This record gives sequence, C-alpha cells and structure tokens, in this order.
Amino acid sequence: MAVAEETFQHLRTAGLTDVDPEIAELLGRELERERNQIELIASENFTWPSVFEAVGSVPTNKYAEGYPGKRYYGGCEVVDEIEQLAIDRAKELFGAEHANVQAHAGHGLKVNFSGRLYTIVHYGVSRETNVVDYDEVLRLAKEHRPKLIVCGGSAYPRTVEADKFREIADEVDALLLCDMAHFAGLVAAGLHPNPVQHCHFVTSTTHKTLAGPRAGFILCDEEHAQAVDRAVFPGIQGGPLMHTIAAKAACFKIASTEAFREYQGQVRKNADVLAENLQEGGLDVLTGGTDTHLLQLDLRSTEWTGKEAEERLAEVKLTVNRNTVPFDERPPTVASGVRIGTPAATMRGFDEGDFREVGQVIVEALGASPDLVALAARSEALCTKRPLYPGFRGFTSYAA
Ligand SMILES: *Cc1c(COP(=O)(O)O)cnc(C)c1O
Repeated sequence: MAVAEETFQHLRTAGLTDVDPEIAELLGRELERERNQIELIASENFTWPSVFEAVGSVPTNKYAEGYPGKRYYGGCEVVDEIEQLAIDRAKELFGAEHANVQAHAGHGLKVNFSGRLYTIVHYGVSRETNVVDYDEVLRLAKEHRPKLIVCGGSAYPRTVEADKFREIADEVDALLLCDMAHFAGLVAAGLHPNPVQHCHFVTSTTHKTLAGPRAGFILCDEEHAQAVDRAVFPGIQGGPLMHTIAAKAACFKIASTEAFREYQGQVRKNADVLAENLQEGGLDVLTGGTDTHLLQLDLRSTEWTGKEAEERLAEVKLTVNRNTVPFDERPPTVASGVRIGTPAATMRGFDEGDFREVGQVIVEALGASPDLVALAARSEALCTKRPLYPGFRGFTSYAA
C-alpha cells in the first residue's frame, strides 16, 4: 500500500479525514451503526455534543499529576480551575463532602486488581423475590466481619437501599461503599435515593445514566478524602486525563438542570412501560418490573438462552446484552437472561409510545415464526422518527 506523502506542515493543520481516512471511515461507520439500531444496552448512553467537544480538546496535551494547587508540573493554572469546577459541581450535585474526579473508570476500588488483594465474600438475592436478601447480608457480615461492604450492581432492577446496608455495616463496624455506576443519573435527578448520606464511599461512572464522558469519579466523606485521593494518584493511576475531567465538569453541570431531570423521568417512565409490555406479551420480567432504568428478562421458562435471544434481537435491530439471572445454571457466556435499559434510546427522544412499539417488537421477535424483515423495518422506522445527533456536524464529516 502506498504511503501518503505527508509534509510536517500539512500534518500540523490537517483533519482526520485527510490524515487517516481509514480511521475516519471507521468512525463514520460507528456513527451510522449507533444511528441505525435501537440501543438497549443498559450501561450505554449517547453523550452530549458539548461533552464530545470537551473530550476532543487541548488539555489532552497537559501533564497534571497531583491535584489542584498541588501539581508536579508547571503550567497547571488553567487545568487547576477545570478540575476544581468538576470537583465542586460533583460535590454540589450529589451532596458530598469530597469528590475525586480523576478516576479513569467506574471500577478502581473494586474487583479488577483488588480480586488479588482482597478476600471477597458475595451476598445474593432472595430466591422468592430476587431482591437483596438483607438477612443474608447481615448473617454473612457477622460471620466474616468485613472491613468494607459494597452495595450496588449492574443488572439489579430495584432500588439500592444504602440505608439498610448502613445499618448492617454499623453493626459489624465495617465501612460502606456504594457503587452507583448504573443509576447515578437517577440519583442526580432525585429519582433514586441518594446513597451519599449513608455511605463512606460512593463510586460511579459518568457514561451510563449520567450521560457524560467514558470515565469515573469517587465521592466520600471528609475523613477519607486524603486516603481516596492518594489511592487514585499515585496509588493506582498516573497523570489525569484533563480533557475528560473538563467533560465531566460539563456533564455535572448538565445533570443539575431541569432538562436533565425531565430526561431521567422519561428514562424511568419508558422502563416501566417496557416492563409492562413485555409482561403483557407473556415474557417474565425479573422482580415483576423495575425501579430504575433497566429490567431483566428471565428466559428460563422459554426455549431461549440469553445468548440466542441477544442474537435474535440483533437481527431486528435491537441491541441488548445477555445477562445471567440469579441462581442461573447457565454460564455467563450463554446466560438465561437479557438485560434491557432505556437511557440511550430515551436520549434520542423515545417516549412511552415508542417503547410500547419496542416491547411489541421484542415480544414478536421471541415468539413463534416471526417475520424478521418486517420487525427490523419497524425498528428502523423508530430510528428514522427519532434521529440520533440530528444536524450535528462535528463528526458527521468523517463519513465518506
Ligand atoms: C459499569 C460499572 C462499573 C464501571 O465500569 P468501567 O467500565 O470500569 O467504567 C463499575 N461498577 C458497576 C456495578 C458497573 O455496572
């Protein structure tokens, strides 16, 4: 393959389409993929154009190891202001004493590296209700005397009751951490109880319901502020991604608006409507519904595995992910459930009527001898009716 004759002068001013048409074309294709299917993966969302702008901005050039006012590099006066704004907004939004906005992702105090460092004991849900079994949590806490109890989850459709976990934590002198990665947007909008007042630590992502850049943050009380900051840097991470921190600041600002609260309200309504429609269509929804932005289809009474259902729904332009259900006998790669969330489709304007149609398409796609071509066309019609990033030119120019 011929290598393009690039001059230094050209590279200093040229855009991506010019410099790297292969990647530009792939970005254009990813945009089209996002536009032409209905995104129902509960952990995904479509962030704001303003967040894209911040993510693609000049602080990507800046080293800023340390924290505002305490950096290991010169020239940090502007990024100090950016990080301080992000910190102040996160504290204000969630009512926290301290915020660390440098966490690159929503894990960090959890299971990746820590699986090797810590002994983890798992609690579960009740077999009858599929809701957290607090008696079991208490029994296990008394038996194992953990230093830390973690609440929150990625496929739990019901309210995470941090107050109940706190009572248990206090009884065994444990610290309490809530991982609100999934439902942070609902918390910001006042539609899910705020775990901050009950927990010593709260970790979160910014890219799920919160609809910001792909990143994380940590909230804690003043007592643990220094320990958390040291654990993030220099403990786990190196230099912070200041452009992403700028985007987090914008995300927190948006999340404090009435418009964001309305959006989250619609996310909740759509989840309820979808749960109702799926059940009316004869499918099992775990716990009989949802308090959040997600629900879990329990396929154990059908012929479907989670994997096969995921593949079938992809054929009709609905993107979901297989997920194990409680006490699942299938391995996670196959699973007996499908997790479905409403944040992304709601971001492109889907309302209750649209989600009724989504529910119908799901029910028919998993029913007897469906017309898959006709069902895919119904999903496509919804995508056309509710365009993603309409008129947004910042990166549509990538498309060839
Ligand atoms: C998504 C998620 C995270 C964070 O994931 P990253 O991809 O590492 O940012 C953490 N905890 C839970 C429960 C999650 O669902």
